[in-house]
Amino acid sequence: MLRRSLLAVLSLPLFAALSLPGANPAQAQTDYPTRAITIVVPFAAGGPTDTVTRLVAESMSRDLGQSVVVENVGGAGGTLGAARVAQARPDGYTLLLHHIGMGTTPSLYRRLSYDAVGGFAPVGLVTEVPMTIITRKNIPANNLQELVVLIRKEREKLNYANAGIGAASHLCGLLFQKAMDAPMTTVPYRGTAPAMTDLIGGTVDVMCDQTTNTTEQIRAGAVKVFAVTTPQRLASLPDVPTTAEAGLPGMEVTIWHALYAPKGTPEAIVNRLSRALQVALKDEKLVQRFTDLGTDPVAQERATPEAASKFWQADILKWRPVIEAAGQYAD
Ligand code: ASP
Repeated sequence: MLRRSLLAVLSLPLFAALSLPGANPAQAQTDYPTRAITIVVPFAAGGPTDTVTRLVAESMSRDLGQSVVVENVGGAGGTLGAARVAQARPDGYTLLLHHIGMGTTPSLYRRLSYDAVGGFAPVGLVTEVPMTIITRKNIPANNLQELVVLIRKEREKLNYANAGIGAASHLCGLLFQKAMDAPMTTVPYRGTAPAMTDLIGGTVDVMCDQTTNTTEQIRAGAVKVFAVTTPQRLASLPDVPTTAEAGLPGMEVTIWHALYAPKGTPEAIVNRLSRALQVALKDEKLVQRFTDLGTDPVAQERATPEAASKFWQADILKWRPVIEAAGQYAD
């Protein structure tokens, strides 16, 4: 009840601030695009957000008839890349592909150089991705229960890698540490690609990351996996138990990605991008690769500005009371 009324109160200014595309249809360019488009990934190259974006960019470029270039602007939990796009010209040539951090940043960061809610025009949702709890391969634990015991006992020695405050790996880590009741020392990276390199090298110990980054390393035996964070097991990793099966019921988290343009981008351009995104998400090669990595592209009707906007608003509202109750902010 309290939670419901809190959400209702919080929703008013927030929804007013969120922008839908098309402030000025007169600006719409029907010949768009006439040159290369850049999609900013707010994390390091080679990581999960980067992997998703490169597949989407390749397919979108075919539909749009122009190159779609990926630029990695990692750091500060994704806020550096997001700032770059919020402050770019709203002409459809600089876009952002970001994850759940768009839902948490507005509450986690109180002093940003850009408007984390009103600075963007959502183009469409892209995918939902499960997370996996993984460790360096030689950790002396063989299931999640043993890992929890080990972390509780040796948490001064064991550390947790993440991609900065507000990143998916950070949120999953918070849930994991809360479920274990054992806070760990965290080591922040510009993305989970470099974190994975260090996990494989054994210089960090524990991580929770998207299957788009972990599936191949798990299959290769380069890291040890303990659980997937979804209610059901994954077809791509059928032997890996869910968090509930492994002994941490309630520790569930799925990461979502969406594509954004800067606020003020003409409606015709946002809609053209949304159509190209919908085509990309049906591309056989993309679907196959997503499936291999344990994720699914969203259904066509969710790859739209309206669906993305609604989902994003709901996610901001979902995380705000959680973050406020925890009282842990990034600044
Ligand atoms: N998986 C990262 C995260 O924790 C982001 C990335 O590197 O794509 O949010």
